[in-house]
Parts: sequence; structure tokens; C-alpha cells
Amino acid sequence: MDSYTPRSGDPRYAVERYRLDLDYRPRVNRLAGRARLDARVLEPTRELRLDLVGLRASKVRVDGRVHAQVKHDSHGLRLRFGRELVAGERLELAIDYAGRPGPRRSRWGRIGWEELENGSLVASQPTGAPTWYPCNDRLDDRASYEIDIATDAGFFAAATGAPGAVRTRGGRRVRSFSIGVPTPSYLVALHVGEYAAYDFGRDARGRLVTSPGQARLVRAAFAPVPRMMRVYEDWFGPYPQEDLTIVVAPEKLEIPLEAQGMATFGINHTAASEQRLIAHELAHQWFGNSVGIARWRDIWLNEGFACYAEWIWSEASGGPSIASLAETHHAELRRLPQDLLLADPGPADMFDDRVYKRGALLLEALRRTMGPTAFRVLLHDWAVSRRHRLVLPAEFVSLAEGLSPSPLDALWTAWLEAPGLPELPVLPPGA
Ligand SMILES: [Zn+2]
Repeated sequence: MDSYTPRSGDPRYAVERYRLDLDYRPRVNRLAGRARLDARVLEPTRELRLDLVGLRASKVRVDGRVHAQVKHDSHGLRLRFGRELVAGERLELAIDYAGRPGPRRSRWGRIGWEELENGSLVASQPTGAPTWYPCNDRLDDRASYEIDIATDAGFFAAATGAPGAVRTRGGRRVRSFSIGVPTPSYLVALHVGEYAAYDFGRDARGRLVTSPGQARLVRAAFAPVPRMMRVYEDWFGPYPQEDLTIVVAPEKLEIPLEAQGMATFGINHTAASEQRLIAHELAHQWFGNSVGIARWRDIWLNEGFACYAEWIWSEASGGPSIASLAETHHAELRRLPQDLLLADPGPADMFDDRVYKRGALLLEALRRTMGPTAFRVLLHDWAVSRRHRLVLPAEFVSLAEGLSPSPLDALWTAWLEAPGLPELPVLPPGA
């Protein structure tokens, strides 16, 4: 159980594959679906719990048979079994469910399913996934996904995964998506809108999904994506995802958000001043989505790296250098309260901008201490050797120590374990 999200997920089983067969009517915000979960029992138990919020399950089957012992509460479903399930046992759980999906309230605001003026989106981080499908909503339970989504004619759907065939069923458009890389529930997203798909330019990977009326503006704003991709592949190794879909909603969104092989932006993020956010979300494909944390308290491994990647892109594209951005943000952090621990910021502060910036500054402190060449080897090795694996900070620490010519103990203690903001080491000549 994750101490930051103690009411989510069930550690007694893991899901290897989700198959979601969904039908969504955007005009009335009505979702109906069947979720099939290939589950593996991890410890002896007579009960399994599924997260599902705001939607109603009408039928649950286990291995094809209707399961009677199901209890519904506001957080999900409890399946009781007349015998003890044994570790290693495999079950297929199939849940028919429906309702009018909406966001759930959380200490991080309203998250999950969100209705737009003309369609919907999903922004789940960290516990919004159960607002649109029954799941084992655990950060450390990664699975593959196959998603079929039927929707009204005139609407376009994009889900996490590579798009497959488009079919027509009873006058409705059905689109299919599949993703084979291990994916946690919070990184699965679905978008429905009056969208069309555009490329990023000839030979560039992926697609941009947006409304035709704003396509010109959006395509211009996202034109740097193929160049960002090349810069990041140079730094972090090959793009770790099977596909890339960037969705730009026709409305203003408070923040952009990453999903697996996907990112979501609002129309307000097309401003030139917001280009750093495009770089940030793309970098999450390596850090957070591929190299994955197993506990929310380690969020700096996602956000510190994605923030540092913004600085890498800035320098590579002729903007302010990494060193000068680090100095600027260090000076800003110095003026803010210094009362959180990067190693364990607490659930209320896990998305605090100070975690992002301090995480990035830790990396800059590392670069200045171990030297720029060893530092680039470190980031590259970290992304490549931990591709689509769950990690702990101790692994990053030991990888860095193996590459650094000087000891790093004082650096870790100062940046991770103490609240006061350490000074940045002096930039070595030539860095
Ligand atoms: Zn981020």
C-alpha cells in the first residue's frame, strides 16, 4: 500500500492485462463498458478489491462465471470468494459497468474524468483512473492495455496506445488502441472531442490530435517536437515508447499532463512562453513513464528529471543555458519556505513546484560535482538500463556513485534528507 494514497489499490493481486471495451456518448456524458482484467494473485486471500469511483458495476464475472459475492462502496468493489485464493493463481475478472463519469475530489483537486464543452478528457495523476474504469489503482502495478472505444459519429477518440483499425458498429465509430509496454493506471488516458489527427512533419513519429479550427496554431506551437525528440534521444537514449499522441484540447487547462506515449495540453499551452511545458511532458516519456517510481514519495525522480530536461531543451534550442536557469531557480527557491524534504515531501506537497525545481537543482549539483561527461553517462545509463522498470532512489544513488570521480555522500544528504536549500557547487570550467 502506498502511504501517499492509502485508500487506492490492492496489494494482494497484480493485473497483467486490461481489455476495456467502452461506449461513450459525449452529448449526455454517458459511459458504458466492460473491463476484463487478467489478474494474478500475489498472496493468499479470500477477497480482492477493485477501485471504481462514481460508476456502477452491473455484473461481475470471474473466469466467465457470474460472481455473486460483490460489495459496492464509494471507493470500488469487494469480491469475496468462498475459498482461499492461492499465490500465483490467475483469474479473469470481467466487470460490466456504466454511469455518468466525472472527476473525483482529492487532496490534489478534482482528478480523473473531466467533461469538456464538447467531449471529455482524462487527467488521472495520481488516483483518478477509477473514475472511468475498474482497476487496481497502484503505482507499482503496471500492465498492458487494449482499449476499444465507440462514440458518436462526428467525434474522434484517442486513448493511450497505438491506434489500430477504425470500425463502424450500429452507426457508431469504434476505435482501437493497444499498448504493450508496462503501464500504471494513472498513465492511461482517453480523449473524446471534435478532433482530427495531424502529423508533426514528414517522417516524424506520432500525431497531434486537436480541433480542425485550431490546427494551424497548434501545429506551429508543437513543430519543435521532432527536434526535442532528437535532443532527448541524444541525452537519454532511444525514445522508450511504442507511439506518441499529443492531444491539445480546445479549452484552457490549468496544467498539461503526461500519459504513457501520450500528453495532454490546453489551448493556452500553445503560447511561445509555454514551450518549456512541451519539453517537460515529452521528457516524462523517459522519466516517470518508462523509468517508473514504485512509491509516490519518490516523485522527484519523475519531476526533477522532467524539469531538468526543460533546461536541456532550452540550452539545445538556443535559449538560456542549463547553468543560468539553475542559478535563476536556485535564487527563486531561496525566497520560498524551506520546509520540505525532497526524499519524502508528504502527499500534500508531492506536486509542489519546489519538489520539481529542487529535484532539477540536485541534478545540476551532481553535474557540477561529477563533471559534465560523467553526468551525461549517468542520465543516459539511468534511462536505458531502467527502461520500463520500477526503480528506487537508492539505485540512482549507486549508479551515480559508480560514475563520479569524487564522493557524493554530502550531496545526497544535503539535497534529499535536509530541508534547507544547499548552495549550488561552482560550475567547473568548460561545463
Ligand atoms: Zn511533470
